[in-house]
Amino acid sequence: MYVGVVSVFPEIIKDYFTVGIMGRAAREGLVDLNVFDVRDYAYDAHKTVDDRPYGGGPGMVLMYEPLSLAVKAAKRKAPADTEVGLVSPQGEIFEQRTAIDKSQLDGIILVCGRYEGFDERFIEEFVDFEWSIGDYIVSGGELPALACLDAIIRNLPAVVNNAQSILDESFLDGTLDYPQYTRPELVDSLEVPSVLLSGNHSAVNSFRKAASLRKTYERRPDLLVGTTFSEDERKLLAKYFSGEGEQRKR
Ligand code: SAM
Repeated sequence: MYVGVVSVFPEIIKDYFTVGIMGRAAREGLVDLNVFDVRDYAYDAHKTVDDRPYGGGPGMVLMYEPLSLAVKAAKRKAPADTEVGLVSPQGEIFEQRTAIDKSQLDGIILVCGRYEGFDERFIEEFVDFEWSIGDYIVSGGELPALACLDAIIRNLPAVVNNAQSILDESFLDGTLDYPQYTRPELVDSLEVPSVLLSGNHSAVNSFRKAASLRKTYERRPDLLVGTTFSEDERKLLAKYFSGEGEQRKR
């Protein structure tokens, strides 16, 4: 997948793609990362990319021309099936289903904001979609863009070594992930739920399904709105709420 990122702090993006799963994806060519420094497209000696807002007000605004030249450069290298997005608190909330959907594209270009944001005319002219990572403000678009790109790239073939692990993650079936445990079996008088040590795969699956449903019900009931539970799911939930599913001791 072609990934273009337009930013005034390109090193943040490049550094992230040197470690972990994203580092391996870049090294193995599963993603073709291209970072465009907006300052390279400024036309004055000071490499100016921002200016004061018309109408007054605090802060600075990213200028149309350097941004548009950087995006044009990113598009020139990109495959035909490439979309241009921008990260902004005013965008649509980015979700797992968006990540899965956009992982089908041949290419994606994301533009990172700074300061007070962008000249609106740039958005109107060059941007296909706007994404927010939540209802709070961070200082720049690099972290939001990396969060979205990581979530998308995880869904590309061969990026995550164990393909099952992306199928098991939170949100995929509208529920949160089940609780996980690892060695040792007993720590600070806390035991691992005995069913996980039983070797009974069907019992393990039932335990996990019930735990996942319960956690979602308790923490994110909004995810379950509109869900019709199967007969099995109803039984699992009833069992778990009655305390039968709790087998951990202190
Ligand atoms: N003045 C803008 C507003 O109130 O909407 C906030 C600008 S913010 C300080 C600078 C840049 O960080 C934004 O242009 C955007 O690219 C990025 N950013 C900040 N918070 C974000 C969020 N929640 N989601 C996505 N991008 C965000």
